Amino acid sequence: MYWNNFKTNTKKVGFIHKKSLGQNFLKDPNVLRKIVSIISPRESDKIIEIGPGQGALTGYLENSAGSILTIEKDMELGFYIKKNFNVDVLVMDALDVCWSKINGKFNKIVGNLPYNIATTLIWDIAANSIGVEKMVFTVQKEVAEKIGAKVGEKKYGALSVWIQSFCDIRLEFQINPGSFFPRPKVMSQVIVLTPKKIFLDKKTKTGLLKTLRICFSSPRKQLKNLLKCYWNEEVEEVFKRQKLSENMRPNMLSCEDYLELSKAIF
Ligand code: SAM
Repeated sequence: MYWNNFKTNTKKVGFIHKKSLGQNFLKDPNVLRKIVSIISPRESDKIIEIGPGQGALTGYLENSAGSILTIEKDMELGFYIKKNFNVDVLVMDALDVCWSKINGKFNKIVGNLPYNIATTLIWDIAANSIGVEKMVFTVQKEVAEKIGAKVGEKKYGALSVWIQSFCDIRLEFQINPGSFFPRPKVMSQVIVLTPKKIFLDKKTKTGLLKTLRICFSSPRKQLKNLLKCYWNEEVEEVFKRQKLSENMRPNMLSCEDYLELSKAIF
C-alpha cells in the first residue's frame, strides 16, 4: 500500500493506491508527452480514456481533443477526475462496457491500462472496434510483444492471431518502471492498434475463437493431430488453397489461414 498526495480543487487529500486495480500512475512528463504525440489529439476527436487515474494523461488531452469520456472503476478517482478535469466520467468497470455499442461514437480509445485486465480488455475492444480510427495503450512489455508477434515467432499465439485479425499493430517505445509511482515490477510498452475495417459476424467470430482454442491448446503439436476430429473435405481444401501442411505447428498459420480454417470447421 502506498500513499501520495494529489490535489482536488478544494484541498490536498491523501490517496491510497489500490494494488488490486493496477494503480501505477505515470509521473514522467517526457513519457506522457511522447504518448500524447502518438495519440495526436485533434479538435474533431472523440476520445475514450480507460483508467484515467489521477489524470496524468487526461490533463494533456483535455484541451486538445473535441471531447473525452473517461472510464474509471475506482469511485474515488472517478469523482476526482470529474471535479478537476473538463471531461465526462463513467465510474464503471471497463470490462463491462459493451464495446460494439460505442462503434462510430468515438474515434480514438486510449489508456495506460491496469496490467491485470489489459489482455482481456484489448481482446474484446479489438474485435469490436469498427468506427474507431486508432487505439493507443500502455501495457506490460510481455503483453505488447505477444500482441505484436509475427507468424512463426515464439510469442505468436492465440492473442496475436485474434487481435491481428481485426487490427494492424505497431509497437512503440518501452517505459521503465521508474516512470511510474508506485514502481511496477515489470517493463511497459506503448502499442498502437489500427482497426482494419473488416467486419466479421458473430458466427464467424465464434468459429475463429473455437479454432484458436483447438489449435493453441497444445502449441507444440502438429496440425494433423490437433485437427483430427475436425478433418473434412473443406478443411482439406483450405490446406491446399492456403498452401498449408499437416505437419505445421499452430504458430505457422497467418490470420487469414485461421479465418479460412474456422469457416471450414464451424
Ligand atoms: N492513466 C493513469 C496514469 O497513466 O497515471 C492511471 C493508470 S493506472 C495503470 C490504471 C487505472 O485504471 C487506475 O486509475 C485504475 O483505478 C483504473 N482501473 C483499474 N481497473 C479498471 C477497470 N476494470 N475499469 C476501469 N478502470 C480501471
